[in-house]
Order: sequence, then C-alpha cells, then structure tokens
Amino acid sequence: MITDCHTHFWRYPGELTEELASETFIMRRQKVELNITAEQHAADTIKADRVLVFGLRAPLTGFLTVNDTVAEYVRTDAKRLIGFAAICPTEDDALSEVDRAINELGLRGLKMSPIYGGWNPQDPSAMSIFAKAEQYGLPIMFHQGTTFPRKAPLKYANPVLLEDIALQFPDLKMIIAHMGHPWEVETIVLIRKQPNVFADISALFYRPWQFYNSLRLAVEYGVTDKLLFGTDYPIATLDETVEGLHNIVNLSKEMRLPALPDDLPEQILYRDTLNLLGLSDSTQT
Ligand SMILES: [Zn+2]
Repeated sequence: MITDCHTHFWRYPGELTEELASETFIMRRQKVELNITAEQHAADTIKADRVLVFGLRAPLTGFLTVNDTVAEYVRTDAKRLIGFAAICPTEDDALSEVDRAINELGLRGLKMSPIYGGWNPQDPSAMSIFAKAEQYGLPIMFHQGTTFPRKAPLKYANPVLLEDIALQFPDLKMIIAHMGHPWEVETIVLIRKQPNVFADISALFYRPWQFYNSLRLAVEYGVTDKLLFGTDYPIATLDETVEGLHNIVNLSKEMRLPALPDDLPEQILYRDTLNLLGLSDSTQT
C-alpha cells in the first residue's frame, strides 16, 4: 500500500492571500498553482492508496485554511482520503477548534507550523494543543523547517525544538515535514532517539545534493525506517517524487559516492505509514 502523507488542499480566494497564490516556487523553476479543485486533487493523487490532506492555518503569513473545506473534500472518498485539521495556537479558539475538527468534522490529525504561524513550539498555548492531540491519539504533521515568507521566524523552526515535546508527550506521533530542511541532520538525530517522531521526504528531490546527503546520513544513522513517503502536492506529484528518489540513487552510483540502497525508494514508498501513525483503517470509527 502506498500512502502519501503530505498533500495540500485549499481555496483561493479565501484561504490564501493574493501574495501566496502568486508565489513561484523558485527551486522548481516553475509557477505552481496552489489553488486546485477537489477533482484535480483526487485525480493527481490517485496512484496513492491513502492520502493525508490538509491546509495550513497561519494568519501571520497569510495561510487561512478553514477546516470545513478539507473535511468536506475528504468525505467524497472517505476510505482513501484522511483529513488533518490546520491549527494555529496564536488564535484564541485553537483548542476548541481541535475538538470541533475531530468530533464534528471527522478529521484525524493536526497540521501545525511554528515558523509560518510565528509561535514558539514550547509556548503554553501550543503545549495544551499537544496534550489534547496525545489524549485523542492525533498525529501532528509539523512544518518544522525553513520557508520563504520574510516574516516567518527562523528561531521557531529548528526540529530540535520538538525534542522537549516528544519527552513531555511520549505517545504523541509527530511527523517532521521535508526532513526539517535545511536541518535534516537535526531531524535525523531526533527521529533516531524519539520512537514516535518521524520525517517525510516530500519536496526535497529538486535539491539533489542536499537530498543525497540527507538520505545517506539517514542510512548511516540507521533511521531510514522512520522516513515516510510524501509529495507536498501540489508542489510536486507522486511520479515526480518517486522519480526523484530513483535519480538520487542513480546519481550516487554515477558519481561513485557512498551508496544508497537500491531498494530505498521502494522502502520509503511502501512504508506502513498508517500503522506507524495509529491511523490504520481498523482504527477508523
Ligand atoms: Zn506542505
């Protein structure tokens, strides 16, 4: 079974500012259309057997996901699509929104980002959300790494900041998106020692030198089993991401670099992600 643990769904206008909607993702050297329809999302992610879907809630940088949008979409294919709620602890209703998203909207995890939202992951307002997530058994997808908006504070972005949370909430499942780029090294040492912290490899293949080094380091530290498959759709597709993984393995051979396992792309692609995150179908209510 293939699980894409990282896809986005949002609407413009309404859930993205004009500035974001016009963003060109420079590393891809192409304009990526962030505003996609439900039909497009469904068609473009169809090769994945299970797909995690979320937006982002971060008023500081103009991401204004309404959780009902994701909930309404995932209901159209409730077995294949798993919705996460976008939560920002800087908002007064964040804690009650978690309850509403889970109990009323049927969402099954949280998407959070200290850097996009401008909040300290160790702030009491954030800690109360982590406590509730642990209590409900909700995995949290963190954008814990760098990003492009000028106002987004790097001081809250390092994956090492999640260590205290992992210790305080040992049963909380956390995924660090994009291997915490550019702090992949910190992510690797963190996922090695914290059993319930994972990382996804989404949106990394188009920085091949960094991606090679990150994967090679993951091999050296013995943590490739903690790497989950994700695309960051619509930034990248499943085919592009799989091809990107194979290209990195081939590059290491062509350049006579320390090897990456030949089966590493398949290991990651067929990871038992739902079980690892406590989201397997049998747990569905
Ligand atoms: Zn993303």
